[in-house]
Order: sequence, then structure tokens, then C-alpha cells
Amino acid sequence: MKVDMHVHTLKSSCSLNPIRLLKKLCSKMGILPFICDHNTLTKTDFGIPGEEISTDRGEFIGLFLNEAVNDRDIFEAMDKVKEQGGLIYLPHPFDENRGRSLCRYNILNDREFKKRVDIVEVFNSRCRDNRPNEMAYQYAKMNNMLMGVGSDSHFPWELGNAYLILEEEFDRDNPKDFLRVLKKNNKSGFKYYGKLGSPINMICSKISKKINNSGSLRLPKLKFNKDMIRYL
Ligand SMILES: [Zn+2]
Ligand SMILES: [Zn+2]
Repeated sequence: MKVDMHVHTLKSSCSLNPIRLLKKLCSKMGILPFICDHNTLTKTDFGIPGEEISTDRGEFIGLFLNEAVNDRDIFEAMDKVKEQGGLIYLPHPFDENRGRSLCRYNILNDREFKKRVDIVEVFNSRCRDNRPNEMAYQYAKMNNMLMGVGSDSHFPWELGNAYLILEEEFDRDNPKDFLRVLKKNNKSGFKYYGKLGSPINMICSKISKKINNSGSLRLPKLKFNKDMIRYL
């Protein structure tokens, strides 16, 4: 089965992935998505609920959540995920091009932090080049952490850019069962598909955020006078 561990819906202001379309695309491509909106828990009838949580020390993802986590303190937020039986997944931890990546907050080597980590995203399709992905891979290997991948899809055309290839199904309500299948995948050669998307996707996200935050797309008002019309 194919699993994309990092997908957004239009509940994230930087995304324009309509939930119904996402559902259709996922079933067409045979992908099970982990839905990880920014600071919102979006529950769907087809994906695994997660949340990309912004904290005072960067962002991480909580997976298999029942309740949203709003804590600003990173350790409190991580503990809230664990208290509800969820998993902690580190998205694009070494991508310096993104303001909320963990590498910018001097936390990745903190012992208390590392103790809580379940999975590292070692391939994210929204990185500009592969260097941050390679660094994440080395980090996971060095620390003996499990590895996962995600497209970080914010738009329909990004879906399918990355997914794990799991040899076995898992119980969708049971994070431990997912870990069991993921461990098998990691041990037997870590099968996944991953390609980098276009950097234009990041610009599209910025525009989408602007539109969403202003409530509407405001175009500058144009006033015409006779002189201008002559030029049209
Ligand atoms: Zn986003
Ligand atoms: Zn994301």
C-alpha cells in the first residue's frame, strides 16, 4: 500500500486542496494520506488525522490524533500528542529555507527532544534541493529513528510526489500497528517513491495565504479617464 505521511487540505491557509477532490485523487492513486494541516486537526473519512504544530521552537507533526494540540511550548505540545497515544513525526527538519523548520531552533540534538521522536521525514517533496532530505536521512540513521516520507502536498498536482510503499496493511486506528509495519519497511530496504516538486508551489502557497488571510482576492481599483482609455 502507498502512504503519504504529509498532506494538507484547504483548512491550511497556504493550501488549496479541496477535501473531496483529495479523497478522489487519493483513491485513484491508491494513496492513504496522513492529513496534517497547520495548527488544525482536520478529520476526514479517508485519511489518518494529524496536525503540523507550530511551537516556540519550530514545527513538528502529531499523527493519529483525536484532539487538536495548541500548546506553544514544544515539550508541552509533544507531551499532549503522546498523552493521546499519537506519534511524533519531524517534517523537513533540516530545510533552512522554511522559517519554522526545527534546524533553526537548535533543538534537534536536545536529549529530551530526541527521546520523544518517533519518525523522521527523510524525504519531503517541497525542499528546493535534496540536501535537507539527505541530512534528515543521516540524522535518522545516526539516532536510530524510524524514517518516513511525505509530499507535503498543498495543491492537487503535488499529490503523488512522495509516498511510502508498505508491504502490509495496518490498523488505521492503531499507531503501534503502523509503527510495526513501518519498521518492517525500514528494515527491508526502505521502499518509497519521492521526487521534488517545482519551487513554484511555494509561491502558490504564499499567494493562497495572502488571499485567505485577507478574506477575498482584492484587486486594485482601476479608475479610467479619457487619456487612459486612449491607450487601451
Ligand atoms: Zn503550509
Ligand atoms: Zn506541511
